[in-house]
Amino acid sequence: MRRNALTLRTVITLLCRAIVATISLRYYEAMEFISDVVSFLSQKAPFSMAEKWDNVGLLVGDKNNELKKILAGIELSGPMIEEAVKVGANLIITHHPVFFKGTKRLNFSTQEEESNWVRRMIKEDISLLTLHTNFDRAPSSLHTHLFSQLEIQNCRPLETLRERDAQNFPEGAGYGIQGELKTEVKAVELMPKLKETFDIPGIRFSGDLSAKIKRVGFVSGAGMFMWQKALREGADLFISGDVKHHEAVDAVNAGLNVVDVGHFGAEKHFATVMQKWLSEEEIEVNLFMGNDPFQFFI
Ligand SMILES: [Zn+2]
Repeated sequence: MRRNALTLRTVITLLCRAIVATISLRYYEAMEFISDVVSFLSQKAPFSMAEKWDNVGLLVGDKNNELKKILAGIELSGPMIEEAVKVGANLIITHHPVFFKGTKRLNFSTQEEESNWVRRMIKEDISLLTLHTNFDRAPSSLHTHLFSQLEIQNCRPLETLRERDAQNFPEGAGYGIQGELKTEVKAVELMPKLKETFDIPGIRFSGDLSAKIKRVGFVSGAGMFMWQKALREGADLFISGDVKHHEAVDAVNAGLNVVDVGHFGAEKHFATVMQKWLSEEEIEVNLFMGNDPFQFFI
């Protein structure tokens, strides 16, 4: 009996070792090709979570290419491609899709930027991968990254993905984020910390600067479509970008304070999150922070 038990234990141990070895080998092999990066990121932020109107995934290139280096940034630009060439990156990862409005032709003889960017990437054998609304909804993503720096606790999405949509999606996937500051502070006292964390030259605030802030909601990019939801969830302050005059007026009249960190101010942190995610697989990511299309003169 004891002998049988030992044999069984040995068999189980050997099986476990074989499984571990297989998994290790798979991970070792996992990041050899561009396709491996695509599948790793599709576990973090499944591409099927993207909005129907969105354009995500490998937009240019060859997933079967061997991976050299990665360059990540908010959106594609000429300088970004040149930076990729300079550092020897053959995979660019962006948040905003370069093809969004139904590109119908790639005509290299014109001054049309997209076409010439694609031409340059093909010439240099650089692939382009985009994570957009699937990234926005992913758990442990940009929202979580910034809220943890702000030491905001008990975080959860402002709205979780509906049950029927959530099949095979990672736990915690949803729209935006909400949570609570450790201690209640006056809005005016919170502004310097927001400015520092988002790493932006200025903040637009709308509301009552002496208001006590405890519960905070945040939707990156142009997220004002969710301010009512944040208010219903008990938020004292809502953070987003691209805030329009009437949206701010409506929110403040309803009792919600609003902070506009700018579309770029929030989403430039996409590159840092890519770096963080891929470091789990010991993959180095070069950052291309780019420039805010708006400049501040105060
Ligand atoms: Zn955006």
